[in-house]
Amino acid sequence: MAVERSPLPSAAPAAGSLVGHWIGGREVGEGSARLPVYNPATGAVSGEVVMAGAAQVQAAVASAQAALPGWSNTPAVRRARVLNRFLALLNEHRDALARIITSEHGKVFSDAQGEVTRGIEVVEFACGIPQLLKSAFTDQVSTGIDNWTLRQPLGVVAGVTPFNFPCMVPCWMFPVAIACGNTFILKPSERDPSAALFMARLLTQAGLPDGVFNVVQGDKTAVDALLDHPEVRALSFVGSTPIAHYIYQRGAAQGKRVQALGGAKNHMVVMPDADLDQAVDALIGAAYGSAGERCMAISVAVLVGDTANRIMPKLAERARQLRIGNGMRDEVEMGPVITRVALERIRGYIDDGVASGASLVVDGRKHPASGAPFTVSGHENGFWVGATLFDNVTPQMRIYQEEIFGPVLSCVRVPDFSTAVELINSHPMANGVACYTRDGNIAREFGRRIQVGMVGINVPIPVPMAWHGFGGWKASLFGDTHAYGEEGVRFYTRQKSIMQRWPESTPKGAEFAMPTAK
Ligand code: NAD
Repeated sequence: MAVERSPLPSAAPAAGSLVGHWIGGREVGEGSARLPVYNPATGAVSGEVVMAGAAQVQAAVASAQAALPGWSNTPAVRRARVLNRFLALLNEHRDALARIITSEHGKVFSDAQGEVTRGIEVVEFACGIPQLLKSAFTDQVSTGIDNWTLRQPLGVVAGVTPFNFPCMVPCWMFPVAIACGNTFILKPSERDPSAALFMARLLTQAGLPDGVFNVVQGDKTAVDALLDHPEVRALSFVGSTPIAHYIYQRGAAQGKRVQALGGAKNHMVVMPDADLDQAVDALIGAAYGSAGERCMAISVAVLVGDTANRIMPKLAERARQLRIGNGMRDEVEMGPVITRVALERIRGYIDDGVASGASLVVDGRKHPASGAPFTVSGHENGFWVGATLFDNVTPQMRIYQEEIFGPVLSCVRVPDFSTAVELINSHPMANGVACYTRDGNIAREFGRRIQVGMVGINVPIPVPMAWHGFGGWKASLFGDTHAYGEEGVRFYTRQKSIMQRWPESTPKGAEFAMPTAK
């Protein structure tokens, strides 16, 4: 259902704005080209983003290099204090940041607020860096000799992020990286570039020294320049699987440390004993929330035994009732997709599903009542596709195999639990998965046997908390470590072992002030 009712709160950024880079603590407007930035709900151009060429990447690396000696030698507790001030500013400006996200991405405002909150949680985690960097010490490994290990920053590190979480995914990277003493260059998605600049300003306001955090806007040109720059020691990537694989190979070939998180095809198993109303709520929210443009979205429902006959009518009814419109309106549940190109790709997948013999239960290409092409009244130029539901999908179909990244839920019918597990374990992507059941043994077996990085038992989108770390398996992650959490600290630091023996030392005399970090 398309809705347009309540008035719009003020949106950001201002129309016609130019989004530049952030280098050395100030915005820089030079670049090799400019690209339009759209408001996906209206289809209107809201501004332009300046695309970095090799010169801007070089300037960002030089700025990060210049800031490195000072920042990496700043005591961790003082780095944490800067992050604490950033945390306070993020909380204060959470809604402004969420408005920017909705205006450039299209997701509903409450979802954008949730995204900022999940980013804030990583900053909260990074504020504990003094404790996280505590290391192991062995007294007297030999007479008069001690041995300890410490973790030191890598140097200049970079992050390349996707359009679908312009605040949260960068926050998986830079708070941990800079807390560890590195300096950072973020290359956000060119499709929603403003959130990165907003956070850069807050970091500067929080007292972060110039050059510690830099932003270069751009595309492959900027990413390749970062990958090839000898001073960039490590690169974190989040995006689609083909680009993740490319970045992992090219970065690793040059001796860089790389973690590259890729695409997803997340399944949710519904067992016959599951609470069906809970499972329907979970599937509707996880398949259509953020128009299916989440790496943890559920795109396949695996319906076991007689579950399909009981759940399909409920799913169809709810999918048809979904309230679709401008994400700044309170009553809206699903916004537009990111671009017209994405819209055409998603429609193409729906055509393909029909052609390959899947049963199209709800067709997001058309209005449920009139059968006219789907749009939202008053916003006819927006990038709209309605909730789409397929039944009788088989593993041979493209709509099953490939990531659609839109509001399309494919239902596969399987006879039993083992077939469900086998099906999921045969898929090359393995980011997230869920199982709905009331049987503890099934839940336990599912958690143990499933070959997927993040598992939810009666939880549809099991995005791990900031101190646990995020990452998929197989084609959903190239590299060894997950993002954020202790894995993030390991990724952004390298271990050193020191073994030391001292001759007897002479006393320095008494000190009467409380010792503090200097
Ligand atoms: P994308 O791969 O097109 O782009 C990601 C980033 O890579 C962007 O910054 C983009 O500018 C850059 N890029 C694009 N093409 C490039 C190229 N040829 N060479 C170098 N850099 C290039 O992804 P997207 O469309 O922005 O985001 C959606 C994808 O991200 C989906 O596949 C989704 O599953 C995935 N994703 C994964 C996770 C995860 O944690 N695994 C999280 C969020 C999104």
